[in-house]
Amino acid sequence: MSNYSKTEDELVGISHGDLDLRMVIAIAGDRSMNAREQNTLQRLQEERGEYLYADMIYVLTHRSFPSKQAQILWADILSHRKQLKNNLGRDVGVSVATHDYLENINPLLKGVSIIEESKMELFANVATHDGLTGLVDNITFKHCLNDELERLTRYGGCLSLVMFDIDHFKMINDKHGHAEGDRVLREISDVIRLEVRRIDTAARYGGEEFATILPGIHKNEALIFAERLRKNVESEFLKGSIPLTISIGIATVEKGDSESVESLIKIADTKLYEAKNSGRNRTCS
Ligand code: GH3
Ligand code: MG
Ligand code: MG
Repeated sequence: MSNYSKTEDELVGISHGDLDLRMVIAIAGDRSMNAREQNTLQRLQEERGEYLYADMIYVLTHRSFPSKQAQILWADILSHRKQLKNNLGRDVGVSVATHDYLENINPLLKGVSIIEESKMELFANVATHDGLTGLVDNITFKHCLNDELERLTRYGGCLSLVMFDIDHFKMINDKHGHAEGDRVLREISDVIRLEVRRIDTAARYGGEEFATILPGIHKNEALIFAERLRKNVESEFLKGSIPLTISIGIATVEKGDSESVESLIKIADTKLYEAKNSGRNRTCS
């Protein structure tokens, strides 16, 4: 990628939202796929590689397994399903086969209950997202960053972490009230959502601090992203009654660098405070 750009269909999204139960059932061959789903599957395979097995097992069980184990489980589940079909004379489908396999044959799940997918998605969303802004919460952000760093170590490439903090936010609360402060936080998160690609992660890191993980994005491209975000926030709030700016810090890591989640956050944080100390409403990388 020569610069940080996005196409219409890359807008918004932080999870692998295309991989729902319907899609997994289709991949397992329970139903046929239309052309659009085939394209989606091809894209997921390119984006996720061998992690797709762990993603599929997660959709079926809402439990994370390491990708190698998930790949073996997927094969075992499909073969168990075939066996069930032979014994029962009917196909129970991949979902029932998964639960029978993981509860009775290879008991890795305990106390499995049945819950509608939509309800489960709601619970999972509440557990991983910040209630005010709808962005990923701090713990989930760190898990995502850890996953991306592991991917980078194995497959190469690069990654940028862009962290930013609202300038003089305390004054907004003091002057306009906490509720108005909350509205500002929601509005900023809307601006972020419009800027990130599907494969990026956008998080509320803390009170009025945010973070975005940009896989495959070099330092210069991250700078373009950050400056666009900063200018968009500034112009968005110039339209309203409360002018507002943000300060941004960037950290970039490439294969061979030995950065951890903590050290990468520390670099971005140091750069962020450099931006604050040199006058605010700017980006440091
Ligand atoms: P700086 O430019 O140095 O970042 O100054 P600041 O005023 O933004 O920084 P400071 O850390 O002093 O203040 C952050 C404020 O953010 C204080 C806290 O009350 C407010 N805040 C944190 N979480 C929330 C929230 O969920 N809602 C609202 N309305 N305010 C919040
Ligand atoms: Mg702060
Ligand atoms: Mg602040």
